[in-house]
Amino acid sequence: MTTTDAPTERPRYGNYIGGKEVPTSGGETFTSINPTTGREWGAFALSSASDVDAAVAAAHAALKGPWGKLSPSAKGRLLMAWGEKIAENARRIGTMESEQNGKLLAEMQAQAKIVKDWLFYFGGLADKIEGRVIPLERSSVLNYTLREPLGVIGVIVPWNSPTLIAIMSMAPALAAGNAIVLKPSEITSASAFELVRLAEAAGIPAGVINVVTGARETGDALVGHAGVAKIVFTGSEQAGRSIAAKAGSRLAACTLELGGKSANIVFDDARLEQAEAGVLAGIFAAAGQTCIAGSRAYVHRKIYDRFVERLAVRAKQIRLGDPLEVATQMGPVATRAQLEKDLSMVAQARDEGAELLCGGQRASVPGFASGFFFEPTIVHHTRPDDHIMNEEVFGPVLCVTPFDDDEEVLALANGTRFGLAAGMWTCNLQRAHSFAKRLEAGTVWINMYRALAFNSPFGGYKASGIGRVNGAEAVEQYLQTKSIWCELGDEVQDPFILRL
Ligand code: NAD
Repeated sequence: MTTTDAPTERPRYGNYIGGKEVPTSGGETFTSINPTTGREWGAFALSSASDVDAAVAAAHAALKGPWGKLSPSAKGRLLMAWGEKIAENARRIGTMESEQNGKLLAEMQAQAKIVKDWLFYFGGLADKIEGRVIPLERSSVLNYTLREPLGVIGVIVPWNSPTLIAIMSMAPALAAGNAIVLKPSEITSASAFELVRLAEAAGIPAGVINVVTGARETGDALVGHAGVAKIVFTGSEQAGRSIAAKAGSRLAACTLELGGKSANIVFDDARLEQAEAGVLAGIFAAAGQTCIAGSRAYVHRKIYDRFVERLAVRAKQIRLGDPLEVATQMGPVATRAQLEKDLSMVAQARDEGAELLCGGQRASVPGFASGFFFEPTIVHHTRPDDHIMNEEVFGPVLCVTPFDDDEEVLALANGTRFGLAAGMWTCNLQRAHSFAKRLEAGTVWINMYRALAFNSPFGGYKASGIGRVNGAEAVEQYLQTKSIWCELGDEVQDPFILRL
């Protein structure tokens, strides 16, 4: 891998296959852009189907060779050692991610540090994968199950939390004994190379994790590859639908972690200071570029005017700037296309009758005239069927709506095809838990928002996804069960001999 600190030369990366950096077969490359400066960050291989083929072959070789031969405990220890190494390099990894996606260095660094918890947890589960002995009627027959890895797993990740999502996807798959071909987002490809190099430094054999870079076409080649047993995809709903269809057509399994339009409900008995902080963090942390963004806030009419006024005051105070600076509270959005999407979705909302409470424009940040900054934005007077109430913005845009009673707000909150997450703010325990049960979402937060843990299952209801990451059940998704039968006695089972 060629990297250089020279100011005029940008890093250039090949693919990483079978323990080596290799150029693409076609020699084509693409560049990634630093969204804070608008300048080129580095160049990466634009991989073709034959590059994907080479990566899948290397992963199969690792499965047949050193990785397949290691005991589950040994695999688990290597995952833990990998976690230590990533944590030691968290600042470097966080910096390259922040420079590529514009999210705060503090958040990217924290994510690179915390993935150690995932690798320790799933490393610990590697030798707790057990089959069963089935109690049959015939005592002379032994029937037992083996839990076996699926094979090669294709992992396709987005740009918003590259290391965290890659590890969330890979750790349970590796604990189950599989090998990986990882395709990072074309916007944030660099940290994947750090991860794979650190994996090998920790002792994970070459070829267990391979990296191919590129955009949609490279991902598509991975999804369609006959040697890939399962795809784990995190990204947009649109891409998820196309991946599910393609994988389904060759009967390959998928885990899909897709988008959301999450509701954040503030009841009139909420602790208002807590709710205010939670609603703001739910949408403006990471400039709204999280799948779990609480992009639809419903506020009880009794407290609506005062609460929403406070939200707008606080939103206007958010400090935009260089995401590498400690004082910055919100960086740019990740790409020019995302900036344009933010602008056009707000414009369409206004055309449909919404009113702006704050923001709505490209923001100018001194020293970063070409940066993709967008003002923290709040709109109200939307209607449930407005475009902005139904489609993910993936930017710092909050829609606020008043409500009068519980049944009304439950219907509004569930009135979306998405079902990733929901939040609520109330001191009424009965209401909180009855809502938690009735909300159609994979995660529900009560008097908190935006929490995740390595041991708590995460995933979407409805169009927000299929399957779960995190928690022990994630490992199940990378295993297949074999049932083994053995006659222990001398009995002859011959259907053609008549016994009278
Ligand atoms: P995206 O769908 O554009 O791209 C995600 C990845 O898929 C990239 O690596 C891309 O190159 C690849 N890709 C795109 N189309 C593909 C196709 N047809 N076949 C194969 N690969 C394809 O998403 P993005 O813009 O990178 O990320 C933002 C989206 O991700 C948002 O919708 C967000 O909600 C979602 N997301 C979901 C979760 C979750 O856990 N549910 C977490 C983070 C982000």
